[in-house]
Amino acid sequence: MSATCTLPGCNQVGPHRHEQHVAEPAILDTILDHIGNTPLVRLNKIAKSEGLQCELLAKCEFFNAGGSVKDRIGKRMVEEAEKDGRLKPGCTIIEPTSGNTGIGLALAAAVKGYRTIITLPEKMSQEKVDVLKALGAEIVRTPTEAAWDAPESHIGVAKRLNAEIPDSVILDQYSNPYNPVTHYDHTAEEIYQACGGKIDMLVAGAGTGGTITGIARKLKALCPGLIVVGVDPHGSILAQPESLNSSTESYKVEGIGYDFIPEALDRSLIDRWIKSEDKESFVMARRMIREEGILCGGSSGTAVAAAVHAAKELGPGKRCVVLLPDSVRNYMTKFLNDGWMQTNGFTDQTSLASEAESKK
Ligand code: PMP
Repeated sequence: MSATCTLPGCNQVGPHRHEQHVAEPAILDTILDHIGNTPLVRLNKIAKSEGLQCELLAKCEFFNAGGSVKDRIGKRMVEEAEKDGRLKPGCTIIEPTSGNTGIGLALAAAVKGYRTIITLPEKMSQEKVDVLKALGAEIVRTPTEAAWDAPESHIGVAKRLNAEIPDSVILDQYSNPYNPVTHYDHTAEEIYQACGGKIDMLVAGAGTGGTITGIARKLKALCPGLIVVGVDPHGSILAQPESLNSSTESYKVEGIGYDFIPEALDRSLIDRWIKSEDKESFVMARRMIREEGILCGGSSGTAVAAAVHAAKELGPGKRCVVLLPDSVRNYMTKFLNDGWMQTNGFTDQTSLASEAESKK
């Protein structure tokens, strides 16, 4: 489909095609067919203890084959590049990522047989590195503090490698139209169908912004009155108004926030931004595991903490959907670990003791 796309709400700039959303077959050709059709789960205890009147539903994206929401774009960007002839047998895929897009791409590359090089800021967890290596990806670590447009940043290094390595391709999640389009076609469609079209609020964090943009484009067109809430850490500059972004502190939650506005993020779709903090994010991610049995990652905690805050304004019979991007698998030595939480000042002995006591 061209730039004059006529699908409801799809303002995607530049040429792109859409796909029909289908249910998962009983026997899968490859593991790549187990991407999408993730569960939407009611958060009972957290909604109740936080005094919410509305229903709170979590879209559990860590059930995708590679463990995150980014598997969707990893597969789609590879397959669209194959269709366009940009990606051919023998090509090398290079991608700058906070890890999960790398895992999604490396998963697709493992199945399809491409060499993959991932450039990854030092901040990102060892768990992501180990999974990437196991999938056969080569990894180049880059300084976390490098500005996005510096030659030594994960984006700068990927560009240099792309110039040096023959037949290499950067699919570029920051500007690739299929980043938001795959969420328009599938993630949004799944939420819409599961909810029978009744959704009052959507809450999601933003990194590239592809997830929130793609979902918001479709749901805003189909669900009049939908409120879209974006979540952005203190220290990032994605939120609007700009006055929200005064802090320049670094933060430990992985995968959300940036020091530039990616093309994949359409901020005109976001009705309200909430700035987030590390402590509330990790404390909420641990509550999700302990109280709801949902083994999510740190940015999921960020999104749920913001959702609990934003959904207070919704009355009975209303529905808030919050997106959980990845799994605790990526953070076993980080927020899952009591010692790590204490060392970083996110919990203390008293809080840990009362956490343990609450189950007795
Ligand atoms: N959370 C995590 C853990 C992620 O890896 C990402 C992807 N960077 C996001 C949230 C945000 O997703 P998006 O890039 O689609 O905004």
